Amino acid sequence: MAAPTSSAQKSEEEWRAILSPEQFRILRQKGTELRGTGEYDKFYNDGVYNCAGCGTPLYKSTTKFNSGCGWPAFYEGFPGAISRFPDPDGRRTEITCTACGGHLGHVFKGEGFSTPTDERHCVNSVAIKFAPAETSSASL
Ligand SMILES: [Zn+2]
Repeated sequence: MAAPTSSAQKSEEEWRAILSPEQFRILRQKGTELRGTGEYDKFYNDGVYNCAGCGTPLYKSTTKFNSGCGWPAFYEGFPGAISRFPDPDGRRTEITCTACGGHLGHVFKGEGFSTPTDERHCVNSVAIKFAPAETSSASL
Protein backbone atom coordinates (compact mmCIF):
# COMPACT_ATOMS: atom_id res chain seq x y z
CA MET A 1 0.00 0.00 0.00
CA ALA A 2 1.05 3.56 -0.59
CA ALA A 3 2.20 5.70 2.27
CA PRO A 4 -0.48 7.87 3.83
CA THR A 5 -1.18 10.86 1.67
CA SER A 6 -0.31 14.29 2.93
CA SER A 7 -3.90 15.41 2.35
CA ALA A 8 -4.67 14.32 5.90
CA GLN A 9 -2.01 16.69 7.22
CA LYS A 10 -3.38 20.09 8.13
CA SER A 11 -2.21 23.24 9.83
CA GLU A 12 -3.25 24.00 13.38
CA GLU A 13 -5.68 26.61 12.10
CA GLU A 14 -7.28 24.19 9.69
CA TRP A 15 -7.73 21.65 12.48
CA ARG A 16 -9.26 24.26 14.74
CA ALA A 17 -11.82 25.00 12.05
CA ILE A 18 -12.98 21.41 11.56
CA LEU A 19 -12.64 19.90 15.05
CA SER A 20 -14.69 20.58 18.14
CA PRO A 21 -12.74 22.27 20.96
CA GLU A 22 -12.58 18.96 22.83
CA GLN A 23 -11.43 17.05 19.74
CA PHE A 24 -8.78 19.68 19.12
CA ARG A 25 -7.59 19.51 22.71
CA ILE A 26 -7.11 15.74 22.53
CA LEU A 27 -6.15 15.05 18.91
CA ARG A 28 -3.87 18.03 18.38
CA GLN A 29 -2.76 18.96 21.89
CA LYS A 30 -2.47 15.40 23.25
CA GLY A 31 -5.10 15.88 25.91
CA THR A 32 -6.94 13.12 27.74
CA GLU A 33 -10.66 12.89 28.32
CA LEU A 34 -11.89 12.28 31.84
CA ARG A 35 -11.86 8.66 32.89
CA GLY A 36 -15.19 6.88 32.42
CA THR A 37 -16.80 9.77 30.54
CA GLY A 38 -16.09 8.71 26.97
CA GLU A 39 -18.86 7.96 24.55
CA TYR A 40 -17.34 4.57 23.65
CA ASP A 41 -16.08 3.47 27.07
CA LYS A 42 -18.87 0.92 27.43
CA PHE A 43 -19.95 0.61 23.83
CA TYR A 44 -19.71 -2.69 21.99
CA ASN A 45 -21.67 -2.43 18.77
CA ASP A 46 -20.39 -4.09 15.64
CA GLY A 47 -18.50 -1.84 13.28
CA VAL A 48 -15.35 0.16 12.74
CA TYR A 49 -13.79 3.07 14.61
CA ASN A 50 -12.40 5.79 12.36
CA CYS A 51 -10.08 8.66 13.22
CA ALA A 52 -12.21 11.62 14.34
CA GLY A 53 -9.77 13.93 12.59
CA CYS A 54 -9.27 12.44 9.14
CA GLY A 55 -11.66 9.49 8.92
CA THR A 56 -9.04 6.78 8.48
CA PRO A 57 -10.23 3.38 9.81
CA LEU A 58 -8.24 2.65 12.98
CA TYR A 59 -9.87 -0.18 14.93
CA LYS A 60 -12.39 -2.94 14.36
CA SER A 61 -15.06 -3.43 17.01
CA THR A 62 -13.98 -7.07 17.23
CA THR A 63 -10.66 -5.96 18.76
CA LYS A 64 -12.37 -3.88 21.46
CA PHE A 65 -12.45 -5.37 24.93
CA ASN A 66 -13.55 -4.39 28.40
CA SER A 67 -10.39 -3.39 30.22
CA GLY A 68 -12.20 -1.66 33.05
CA CYS A 69 -9.75 1.21 32.78
CA GLY A 70 -12.34 3.87 31.99
CA TRP A 71 -11.42 4.42 28.35
CA PRO A 72 -12.10 2.43 25.20
CA ALA A 73 -9.56 -0.39 24.90
CA PHE A 74 -8.48 -2.27 21.81
CA TYR A 75 -5.91 -5.03 21.48
CA GLU A 76 -5.01 -4.31 17.86
CA GLY A 77 -5.40 -1.62 15.21
CA PHE A 78 -5.64 -1.89 11.44
CA PRO A 79 -2.18 -2.67 10.04
CA GLY A 80 -0.18 0.54 9.67
CA ALA A 81 -3.03 2.75 10.85
CA ILE A 82 -1.54 3.38 14.28
CA SER A 83 1.88 4.93 14.89
CA ARG A 84 3.76 4.62 18.17
CA PHE A 85 6.09 7.09 19.79
CA PRO A 86 7.89 7.11 23.14
CA ASP A 87 5.94 9.45 25.40
CA PRO A 88 7.76 12.46 26.83
CA ASP A 89 7.08 11.04 30.29
CA GLY A 90 9.66 8.35 29.48
CA ARG A 91 7.42 5.46 30.51
CA ARG A 92 4.42 5.25 28.24
CA THR A 93 4.07 4.81 24.48
CA GLU A 94 1.91 7.33 22.70
CA ILE A 95 -0.27 6.18 19.81
CA THR A 96 -1.33 8.42 16.96
CA CYS A 97 -3.25 8.16 13.70
CA THR A 98 -0.58 7.49 11.10
CA ALA A 99 -2.41 9.45 8.42
CA CYS A 100 -2.98 12.76 10.22
CA GLY A 101 -0.80 12.48 13.30
CA GLY A 102 -3.75 12.94 15.65
CA HIS A 103 -3.15 11.85 19.24
CA LEU A 104 -5.28 8.82 20.16
CA GLY A 105 -3.99 7.75 23.56
CA HIS A 106 -1.39 5.29 24.77
CA VAL A 107 -0.59 1.62 24.29
CA PHE A 108 0.34 -0.67 27.19
CA LYS A 109 1.89 -4.11 26.90
CA GLY A 110 1.97 -7.24 29.00
CA GLU A 111 -0.76 -6.36 31.46
CA GLY A 112 -2.11 -9.91 31.39
CA PHE A 113 -5.37 -9.35 29.54
CA SER A 114 -6.50 -12.50 27.77
CA THR A 115 -6.41 -10.98 24.30
CA PRO A 116 -4.47 -12.18 21.24
CA THR A 117 -1.80 -9.48 21.62
CA ASP A 118 -1.72 -8.75 25.35
CA GLU A 119 -1.66 -5.10 24.39
CA ARG A 120 -4.10 -2.44 25.45
CA HIS A 121 -4.64 0.53 23.19
CA CYS A 122 -6.13 3.03 25.60
CA VAL A 123 -7.93 5.44 23.29
CA ASN A 124 -9.87 8.64 23.93
CA SER A 125 -13.47 8.32 22.70
CA VAL A 126 -13.23 11.86 21.39
CA ALA A 127 -10.40 10.85 19.06
CA ILE A 128 -12.41 8.17 17.28
CA LYS A 129 -15.75 7.96 15.51
CA PHE A 130 -17.80 4.78 15.33
CA ALA A 131 -19.27 3.59 12.03
CA PRO A 132 -21.77 0.72 12.25
CA ALA A 133 -21.02 -2.43 10.31
CA GLU A 134 -22.78 -2.78 7.00
CA THR A 135 -22.60 -5.27 4.20
CA SER A 136 -19.99 -3.62 2.05
CA SER A 137 -17.06 -4.85 0.04
CA ALA A 138 -14.63 -3.54 2.63
CA SER A 139 -14.53 -6.77 4.61
CA LEU A 140 -11.34 -7.73 6.32
ZN1 LIG B 1 -6.33 10.70 11.49
